[in-house]
Amino acid sequence: VERTLVLVKPDGVARGLTGTILARVEAKGYKLVQLKLVDATRELLERHYEEHIGKPFYEPLVEFMLSGPTAAAVFEGQRVIEGFRSLAGTTEPTLAAPGTIRGDFGRDWGLKVQQNLVHGSDSPESAAREIGIWFG
Ligand code: ATP
Repeated sequence: VERTLVLVKPDGVARGLTGTILARVEAKGYKLVQLKLVDATRELLERHYEEHIGKPFYEPLVEFMLSGPTAAAVFEGQRVIEGFRSLAGTTEPTLAAPGTIRGDFGRDWGLKVQQNLVHGSDSPESAAREIGIWFG
């Protein structure tokens, strides 16, 4: 059965949306198999976001992810990777469709990083890698 890493990023946790967001994923029918709150370190984030090192938004992204706790979860189910990305909506919250997590709860705050509430793995390979990083 497929698994994916879901993160409720620090903006989602700080705004009190953790339960609401996780409830949507559970209500879709995916099974919650791991869950914890993490104070991410710069080292962990360097591993998680290694593909973005050197991009203009990398440093603001890391600073944002260091700004407070992240809720890390593993969900399981057939095609959960695609399914969660569909629930999340497109990266830019201003443009994310209403009905999606980012479309319903996110917007542009005028910052150098998209504070877009959630992360979801984009392939089985990245899911395995990311679950290893956040859950060891
Ligand atoms: P995620 O991987 O977080 O589910 P994604 O795959 O849509 O979202 P990535 O391209 O992996 O996004 O980028 C990682 C994160 O970096 C984004 O979720 C967003 O917070 C931030 N980000 C990405 N592109 C930009 C950008 N052009 N400007 C500002 N922030 C960005």
